[in-house]
Amino acid sequence: MSDILTPTLPAKRAAKKANPKVGIVSLGCPKALVDSERILTTLRSEGYEISDSYAGADVVIVNTCGFLNSARQESLDAIGEALAENGKVIVTGCMGGNPNEIRAAHPGVLAVTGPQQYESVVAAVHEAVPPKHDPFLDLVPPQGLKLTPRHYAYLKISEGCNNRCTFCIIPSLRGDLVSRPLRDVMIEAENLVKAGVKELLVISQDTSAYGVDIKYAESKWRGRAVKAKFLELAKELGDLDAWIRLHYVYPYPHVDEVLELMAPDARGKTKILPYLDIPFQHASPNVLKAMRRPAHGEKTLERIKSWRKAVPDLTLRSTFIVGFPGETEDDFNYLLDWLDEVELDRVGCFKYEPVQGAKANELDGAVDEDEKQDRWERFMEHQRLISERRMAKKVGKTIEVLIDEAAAEDEETGTVFAVGRSAADAPEIDGNVFVEGAGAATLQAGDLVKVTVAAAEDYDLRGVLL
Ligand code: SF4
Repeated sequence: MSDILTPTLPAKRAAKKANPKVGIVSLGCPKALVDSERILTTLRSEGYEISDSYAGADVVIVNTCGFLNSARQESLDAIGEALAENGKVIVTGCMGGNPNEIRAAHPGVLAVTGPQQYESVVAAVHEAVPPKHDPFLDLVPPQGLKLTPRHYAYLKISEGCNNRCTFCIIPSLRGDLVSRPLRDVMIEAENLVKAGVKELLVISQDTSAYGVDIKYAESKWRGRAVKAKFLELAKELGDLDAWIRLHYVYPYPHVDEVLELMAPDARGKTKILPYLDIPFQHASPNVLKAMRRPAHGEKTLERIKSWRKAVPDLTLRSTFIVGFPGETEDDFNYLLDWLDEVELDRVGCFKYEPVQGAKANELDGAVDEDEKQDRWERFMEHQRLISERRMAKKVGKTIEVLIDEAAAEDEETGTVFAVGRSAADAPEIDGNVFVEGAGAATLQAGDLVKVTVAAAEDYDLRGVLL
């Protein structure tokens, strides 16, 4: 179960009243994690306490993921476990869009609500265990409750998606794009930074499309009218005292302007991290067209080359799908050649899964499972060598590192090191920097330090504290 801390209550007051406790199991992507945080923040403001165990909870919420068939199965298993361990279970999230499937597998669940239906989840909790509100005790910090460590947080700028990629069912689960007003996003971001967050990870389904649905509506921020636009948002976030990392960006021409914020100033500081997470999914024009990917007609290769020229330290992360229906050996080789040319830094790869309800399942040319596995292995080895080459270039450089885990001793070698990340590493999905040297033993999570890179592995670095 998700583990979060609740404010400590004065013993006398706490003894007077036992507030109902809610547990949450949060599955899926960072966007789902943000939904869980919102649900918990609302419940906490109503007086509920948060339990980090099944046994201590009066009711358990399972926030499901329905992106892939394997994720659906994991969600169903988690619901089963929560029912067995606790008995009172409310289901929400992506799989909640299909309540029949959940009720068929687990008829004992109390309620099923869809993604982003925060009010319905909260109403279901009220019904299962009514709230006992006490304004003296039930304080919620202005930044809300977070499931991430204290020093980084996800910042969700919109819900839903206007694209219709043929392998994806997110738009049918989460609907069309709905952008949050810029002011709302900035207030949340500022509160997080005030509360000690050192890194904000901007997430959505399509970050570069931010504001399209609300016609880039202006809102008042710090006495100025600012448009709800990707570039404006990046500029405002860049004025906060935190690392700003952009995820789920598509290579549209207007992204070029944001690159300017990633170039170092005279002091070597950048407004936002020189890092872009662009889910390319493929490179072959035939496959991209069949996938109906956003920006598939753009001259991506040229664009990346110009970005790298402007910002040599730019880290590019991406994900790909191999074995998409109709992908030929030529298409696959085109992808490998393209990888050689763009030399991405961080890459994830999935074998195509025919997700129930996805348009791509109707396409001809299904790739056989053995062939998918073979392409996946070739892809991973190909990219590993690229990654190794790029990582080796970092040896000897001085980089900034945000510490994630306080120093500890390696049982085998006796070396004391802390674990952190550089600008090139998003939490959970990228690599780590292992920091050693004099002073490393006192490092704590959230410390920002300078490190000289001593060695590089395929995905991680080893560095010495300066
Ligand atoms: S951009 Fe494509 S893959 Fe991403 S959520 Fe939208 S439809 Fe799905």
